[in-house]
Amino acid sequence: MHQLPRNAGAGSSRGITSSEAFGASTPHDSAVDLKFTSQILNPLVNSLLSVFFPVTCSLCQSVVEDLSLGVICQSCWRRVGPFRGILCTRCGYGFPSTNIQSARPLCGGCRRSLFLFDFARAYSPFEDPLKEIIHQFKYSSHPSLAKPLAHLLLSVYQSNPQELSADLIIPVPLHRSRERERGFNQAFELSRQFSRLTRIPLPTRLLVRTRPTKVQAGLSRRERRINLRGAFEVSRSRVLEDKTVLLIDDVFTTGATLNECAKILKEHGALRINVLTLARVIRG
Ligand SMILES: [Zn+2]
Ligand SMILES: [Zn+2]
Repeated sequence: MHQLPRNAGAGSSRGITSSEAFGASTPHDSAVDLKFTSQILNPLVNSLLSVFFPVTCSLCQSVVEDLSLGVICQSCWRRVGPFRGILCTRCGYGFPSTNIQSARPLCGGCRRSLFLFDFARAYSPFEDPLKEIIHQFKYSSHPSLAKPLAHLLLSVYQSNPQELSADLIIPVPLHRSRERERGFNQAFELSRQFSRLTRIPLPTRLLVRTRPTKVQAGLSRRERRINLRGAFEVSRSRVLEDKTVLLIDDVFTTGATLNECAKILKEHGALRINVLTLARVIRG
C-alpha cells in the first residue's frame, strides 16, 4: 500500500479530507492509499526497482521507496498541505486574515474586476515544500512528478465539483522554443494526467503561444500585460463555442498570463473559464 499523509489530498476551500479526495475508505485520521500506484507500476516491479535502482528524494536525499510518487519521498509529500483559512469566493485568493465577516468574501482584485476568468482555485499557497517540488518538476526535468501532482489538482476539483466542471481542459501553453529547452510543458503534463483522472477531454494545441515572452518576474502589472499582448492564438475556434474551459497551469502568480489566456479563449467563443493550479502566490 502506498500512502500519502492525511493533508496531502485535502481540498482547497472546504477542507475535504484526503480519504474523500482519493476515494479511499479509510477513516479520517488514517493515512490514505494512493490508488494511482498500481496504474503506474506493478507493485512488485516497483519494489524490485527501488531495491536495484534506489532513487534519492530530491528534497531530503532519503531513499524513495515508492517510485509512483516520483522523485519525492513519502515524508516530503506528507508536508504538502492545502489552503487553510478563508478564500476569495471567486479567484481563490487565500486571505492572510481569518477575521473576515462576509459569507462570500471577494479579494481586492475581484472587487476591481481584474480577472477575465470566472473562477479559480489552487491546491495550496506557493510555499515549500510544494514550491520546491514544482521547481524540481519544471526545471530539473522530472516530468514523472506530473502524476502525483495531478492528484493534488484532483482533490481541488473534487471539492469544487460544480464550479470547476468543464467541457474541456486547456493547459497554459509554452512557446515552442521554451518547450524545446525544457523538454516538456509542465502545464500540459499536468493536464494530461488530470484528464486521465477525470475523463475531461484535452484537445491538443488548441491554444498556442505564438511568440516567446520575457520572464514575468519583476515586471509590474502593466508591463506584464504588455509583455503578453498578442502572445497567444487559438487554432480552432469552433471547438470553443459555448464551452466551459478548465485552464490549467502549475502556479497562479499575478493572474496576468491566465487572464490573457481567458481573454483570447472568450474572444473565440468560450462561455466560461475556470482556472485550476497547483499553487497560488499570496502576497501580504
Ligand atoms: Zn524527502
Ligand atoms: Zn479574488
